Amino acid sequence: MRLRLGRPDLAQYADRFDVPAADGDFSVTFLGVSTLLIDDGESAVMTDGYFSRPSLFKVGLGRVTPDPDRINAALARTSVTRLEGVLPVHTHVDHALDSAVVAEQTGALLVGGESAANIGRGAGLTEQRIRVVASGQSLRVGGFDLTWVESDHCPPDRFPGHITEPVVPPTKAKNYRCGEAWSLLLRHNSGRTALIQGSAGYVPGALTGHRADVAYLGVGQLGLQGEDYIRAYWAETVQTVGARSAVLIHWDDFFRPLDEPLRALPYAGDDLDVTMRVLGRLAADQAVELHFPTVWQREDPWASLR
Ligand SMILES: [Zn+2]
Repeated sequence: MRLRLGRPDLAQYADRFDVPAADGDFSVTFLGVSTLLIDDGESAVMTDGYFSRPSLFKVGLGRVTPDPDRINAALARTSVTRLEGVLPVHTHVDHALDSAVVAEQTGALLVGGESAANIGRGAGLTEQRIRVVASGQSLRVGGFDLTWVESDHCPPDRFPGHITEPVVPPTKAKNYRCGEAWSLLLRHNSGRTALIQGSAGYVPGALTGHRADVAYLGVGQLGLQGEDYIRAYWAETVQTVGARSAVLIHWDDFFRPLDEPLRALPYAGDDLDVTMRVLGRLAADQAVELHFPTVWQREDPWASLR
């Protein structure tokens, strides 16, 4: 394969950064990779909670550890003081490095598979603060009904397998094995429903029977797959749950701190232009809205569906 330098220019998709702004208490705030803060004004949950974003050098060669300054800065900027749940979509470093620290700081329950629980244990969370769920299980967390359905990671999964021992940072990034890769289904009291798909993988038929109006769709590495794979991924997620709006996540270069402008992953790791060519066509053909979220902004993608 020819190595292509550089990265896609996000400016060409500027008109898709148009998720309606939240105009009430309910909001979803995108915070890079697959981290979403979902807040209804009375209770809030967060997927992943990944803010440390260590450099490529540290992730590749050194040891990684949660960065309290970056975590605190992000929580302060989003005015988060309390969360009911922190929900890692899987346990790779770019999702779960900070999950236990964020749960500890915000009083949240850390909810996920056994791999996520071992990250919690390694960080010193007590068992009362950890909840292990199985595929198909639902849990009421704050104002949210959440259902975890086991999915798959987008190939290639660089650190496959489960985490079977507590992970104590600082440690090598490879110790953050994938664990369970979840499709997370969310239903709020207000009637809003969402599928949150952290990684661009799927298990055929796994989401059959589940419904969601909005799909937060992970696209990391999706642009390196063939068109057939991309179409199947869309069919098994957005189409299966009947989503009318897809909001793309996991497209930003996560080796860059969150206080710098987001940019796309380099061609060496993904090709967002390929993803957008295929998804843009599918969305237009099926009359599904296709958006990018704007980092730090309180948004309400359901607003344009009413
Ligand atoms: Zn991953």
